[in-house]
Amino acid sequence: MIVFNLTCGNDHPFEGWFGSAADFERQQESALLSCPLCGSKRVSKALHAPYVNTGGTPKPPGRERHGKDAVGQYANVADEVAQLVEHLLANTDDVGDAFPEEARKIHYQEAPERKIRGNASREEVKDLREEGIEIMALPIPRHLLGKRH
Ligand SMILES: [Zn+2]
Repeated sequence: MIVFNLTCGNDHPFEGWFGSAADFERQQESALLSCPLCGSKRVSKALHAPYVNTGGTPKPPGRERHGKDAVGQYANVADEVAQLVEHLLANTDDVGDAFPEEARKIHYQEAPERKIRGNASREEVKDLREEGIEIMALPIPRHLLGKRH
C-alpha cells in the first residue's frame, strides 16, 4: 500500500491509501476521491513525497515531517477531538446541573443505565470518583453544550 498525503480544494489535509500510484491517479480522474471533512471532490496530492507503508506498526512521524506538515497533523488532532465531541453530544443525555445526582442514580441503579453529560464542579467530580463512578472530563466548548437547564 502507498499512503498519499492529500488535500482538498478547501485545504483540508488527509491521507489516502492506494494500491499503487496509478491506482491513485485512476481514482482521482474518475472523481472517486473526496475529502472526508467537506466532501470536496477537488482532491490533489499534498506537495511532499508519499511514504510507503511496509506493514507492521505505522512509522512514527520522523524528522522529515516538520514545518507545514506538523501543522497539518495538529489540525487533524483538533478535528478528531471535534468529531469525538460531536459524537458524544449526539449520544448522551444532557442533564445539566443535575449531573452529579443523575450519575449517582445510574451508578446505584436507581435510574436506567444511559450515557449522560452535564455540569459538575471540581469538588463534585472528586466525590463521584471516590465513590467509584467513572466519569470523564471533556474539553467541550461551552457554546456546544446548548442551553443550561
Ligand atoms: Zn475538505
